[in-house]
Amino acid sequence: MLDLITRAERFARLRHADQFRKGKTKEPYTVHLEEVASLVKKWRGSNETIAAAWLHDTVEDCPPTSIEELKLQFGTKVAGYVEELTDDKSLEKEKRKLLQISNASKKTPEAALIKLADKSSNVLSIANSPPLGWSLQRRLEYIKWARTVVGELPRVISLAYNEFENRCDIAELQSYIELGSLRQAQNASLTIMERKALRAGASQEQTDKFLRNLLQDSFKLDK
Ligand code: ZN
Repeated sequence: MLDLITRAERFARLRHADQFRKGKTKEPYTVHLEEVASLVKKWRGSNETIAAAWLHDTVEDCPPTSIEELKLQFGTKVAGYVEELTDDKSLEKEKRKLLQISNASKKTPEAALIKLADKSSNVLSIANSPPLGWSLQRRLEYIKWARTVVGELPRVISLAYNEFENRCDIAELQSYIELGSLRQAQNASLTIMERKALRAGASQEQTDKFLRNLLQDSFKLDK
């Protein structure tokens, strides 16, 4: 008999077959699932959590897939995690986005880990394959919203938060480079460097000094 993760992967690949992501590279939807499952594995999620990572979008995006069906095929634990990650699609998009923020703190650690992987995957796709027609402001608002949702999640492992934050930084900088002015891109890269230094444990004073020296040196190089 096939193991739980392989069965979940096969199920998800079949249900999401023929679906593509909205971004400009129009990659198959399963690429997103591969990425979410591999992040959860890297962050040491349990077998049930990795299986649920494969399945996390099936109920929301592949009708008539239901929580009941997942329960029968994969057990109550896996189905429960997927249920925690399924938005109510009868609600308007803005309402759903607000609910993701207010419900984030109630997640189990397993669902929180999958949510972090999901948001990490989505945020990086803003840099690599942004949805067509999204303005700079829309991209930045999406990244900000993803950060708010993740900020409300119960704390899981710091490795996962670092990965998410790094991806947000890349997506933000790439958006400014593609759609903003040179000045905006330069300011964004300084802000990101500052955030990185502070995250790594530097004090505000050390960070300010480093950035001041960096700017002075680059002026000297210009001359
Ligand atoms: Zn997803």
